[in-house]
Amino acid sequence: MKTTIIKLAGTIADRKKIKQAARVIRKGGLVAFPTETVYGLGANAVDAQAVKKIFKAKGRPSDNPLIVHVANKKDFSRLAAEVTPAAKKLISNFCPGPLTLVLKKSKMISSSVSAGLDTVAIRMPSHPVALKLIKESKVPIAAPSANLSGKPSPTDAKHVIEDLNGKIDVIIDAGKTKIGVESTVVDMTTNPPTLLRPGGITREALRRVVDKIAMRFGRGGQIAKSPGMKYRHYAPNAKLILIEGRPTQVIRKIKKRVCMYRLRGKRVGIMTIRRDHTYDADAVILVGTTPTAVARNIFHALREFDKRRVDIVLAEGIAERGMGLAVMNRLRKAATTLVRKA
Ligand code: AMP
Ligand code: MG
Repeated sequence: MKTTIIKLAGTIADRKKIKQAARVIRKGGLVAFPTETVYGLGANAVDAQAVKKIFKAKGRPSDNPLIVHVANKKDFSRLAAEVTPAAKKLISNFCPGPLTLVLKKSKMISSSVSAGLDTVAIRMPSHPVALKLIKESKVPIAAPSANLSGKPSPTDAKHVIEDLNGKIDVIIDAGKTKIGVESTVVDMTTNPPTLLRPGGITREALRRVVDKIAMRFGRGGQIAKSPGMKYRHYAPNAKLILIEGRPTQVIRKIKKRVCMYRLRGKRVGIMTIRRDHTYDADAVILVGTTPTAVARNIFHALREFDKRRVDIVLAEGIAERGMGLAVMNRLRKAATTLVRKA
């Protein structure tokens, strides 16, 4: 298949180009598009055949449901059987934005979208291109992240091209995404609501609106309520070792491992958040010095290590506050080994 790449220039001419992509959605095709979090791989959510193509192009397990993207707050109540008062509160505070709500599904949602669950995940993105595409398509758009299953999510159209060129109809290129990690997923069918995936809206921000929120995410031990939680994810080809602890401890542990792996003939990469310490390794990437900056750059950095052909990535852990919670969740899922605080 030939993939059409539509490059947007931020001008009035973009409207015509987005309309062209919307026609592809309406005809049952696949369009990768930018959102404020990461790029999504979209299909008409009410066309079961089109939705199936998403799973095929990504190599996504069919038991992992998709998020349905809407362009209007009213669409939450069209696609869900019930929008609870707490859900209404979250919608009015955070939508459009990087928040996905899991609600009881209405009949409009086929089981290929919900992977057989009786719930549906709905989000209204704030990115103007995403909103325009959904409006022009005149249908809700089912979209997971536009990467091959298991790979880091795409935060730039060039990541989408790396993974999906030749497999989908259209890629809309609007440059880098702003937030860099996916949306926060909250299950509103439980009381209190349950945080299933930390993301662009912080837990602290949610708590300011709903006073109680349970947490159920991460690997190891917990039963996966959100099916996406049970797979290794976001992973570079290299082995990723996540190292947590006090700064001096972390630096010492990383240095020790660099020596060890190099003696074994391995190429070693380091993902650091420190400007004040210089490591000696085959690839050192300063991913950001604040949690928000780390979130924005993390997936690009993971892809970059593969390009630099390192065998091992040693990543410094960050505090699980604010965007740090989402960052650590992605790093833990990408990691093959966790080195905890001593
Ligand atoms: P992705 O869009 O690929 O980043 O993944 C979407 C995330 O939302 C995955 O973790 C899914 O498992 C989760 N998700 C989608 N629909 C539901 C649902 N009905 N219930 C729980 N989690 C869901
Ligand atoms: Mg994904």
